[in-house]
Amino acid sequence: MSDSDRPVVLRNGLVLTMDDSRTVLSGTDVLVIGDRIAEVGHNLAAPDGALEIDATDGIIMPGMVDTHRHMWQTAMRGYGADWTLTQYFVWYYLESGKLFRPEDVHAGNLLGAIEAIDSGVTTTVDWSHGLQTTDHADAAVDALEAVPGRFVLAYGNIQQGPWQWSTTPEFRDFYRRRIDGGKLAGFQLAFDIPGDPAFQEKAAFEVARDLGVKVTTHAGVWGATNDDGIRLMYENGFMTPGTVYVHAATLSSDSYHRIAATGGSVSVSTESEQSAGQGYPPTWMLRKHDIPVSLSMDTSVWWSGDLFSAMRTTLSADRSREHLEAHAAKETITHHHLRAEQVVDWATRGGAKALGMDSEIGALTPGRKADVVLIKNDASPAMFPVLHPYGHVVYQAQRGDVHTVLVGGKVVKQDGKLVGVDLAAARAKVGATVDHLRETMGEDLWQRGMNPEIPEARILHNPYQYTK
Ligand SMILES: [Zn+2]
Repeated sequence: MSDSDRPVVLRNGLVLTMDDSRTVLSGTDVLVIGDRIAEVGHNLAAPDGALEIDATDGIIMPGMVDTHRHMWQTAMRGYGADWTLTQYFVWYYLESGKLFRPEDVHAGNLLGAIEAIDSGVTTTVDWSHGLQTTDHADAAVDALEAVPGRFVLAYGNIQQGPWQWSTTPEFRDFYRRRIDGGKLAGFQLAFDIPGDPAFQEKAAFEVARDLGVKVTTHAGVWGATNDDGIRLMYENGFMTPGTVYVHAATLSSDSYHRIAATGGSVSVSTESEQSAGQGYPPTWMLRKHDIPVSLSMDTSVWWSGDLFSAMRTTLSADRSREHLEAHAAKETITHHHLRAEQVVDWATRGGAKALGMDSEIGALTPGRKADVVLIKNDASPAMFPVLHPYGHVVYQAQRGDVHTVLVGGKVVKQDGKLVGVDLAAARAKVGATVDHLRETMGEDLWQRGMNPEIPEARILHNPYQYTK
């Protein structure tokens, strides 16, 4: 029996099943056999040779799902901490994005993928819009396949219009070689619709339809995409179920109605929206329009890459808005509408539903794939007492408390340490990418990129477009 086939039983934990009734069970075991959850219950009998993990004083929950992360940018972790969205666009679209070689995309993806599983994110959409050539795409997939997590490749290329890159024979060949029947958990087309009436993006939507894959798009991003893009998609019949709208922060009620009516969902990246300028994190509007929500971290070039931060900021931003709207009407909120339980759902089940994977992942119920996270840290004062289980996950726990992670029944992190992952090699590759970028750009541009000036004129030209 190889180690990955070994049954696993987590003993005596507080289990957030995230099933349809959101059942919470204390002092409970989770038994994993093969790649599936076999049983959830008290004092379970485990097969001989099962790996026993003590979950006492810990919380067992489904692996989290991030529906939008630009993993290639992990190679520049933290560099853009003081950026606005405009500076991000200048950097990646005009200055440095083109400098990424296939090995740089590989390096960023590798470290980002390791970071995901380390923090309990077992499924991640790699919103990979730096794929200038299919060599870059091969490198992206090589990295994702090298890490034992679930990854959906959302294929994009900011250096060309989507009608250009998606219609090439090279792209079709890549799809045939790497995606169709391949090892990844899924595939999407990733591109934006800035609202040009010519709607050249139509050709890319037709490719998606032809391949039977979903589209993910940055929508409702102030200064970049707005209601026009949504309207063009709608009028041309491309707002289909399974489409993932990222941010959706500056849209009219009309656009929200269209998303709700056509079976789409919104990926909310609260840390990003709060800081970069896409618009106010929209959960308060999405709740009003009954639009399904998933969570995402967007990019570690600015922010943290873990969903604890996403849950925390999303809950706080929603409540902040609820209070401010009431204050504007001289009223007082006495009861919050959004609860911690709901954001934990968005971080798990919400992501699974957004990706059409709800029958397989997102909850701890027998028969589902065993993507399991144990949050437990006996050395941390913040992990005791655990009274409000959802509140504890959202406001008390953090990525350093992720004790054990299983992906499809395979233990990828145990006792707080990654299993079978070469972090040192990934760090060395990212180090080489940083050296390459720094040398190619020159020290002056490198430093100016990281430390943007505060100019006299307050409004900068926004270069967010496909063509010059
Ligand atoms: Zn994004």
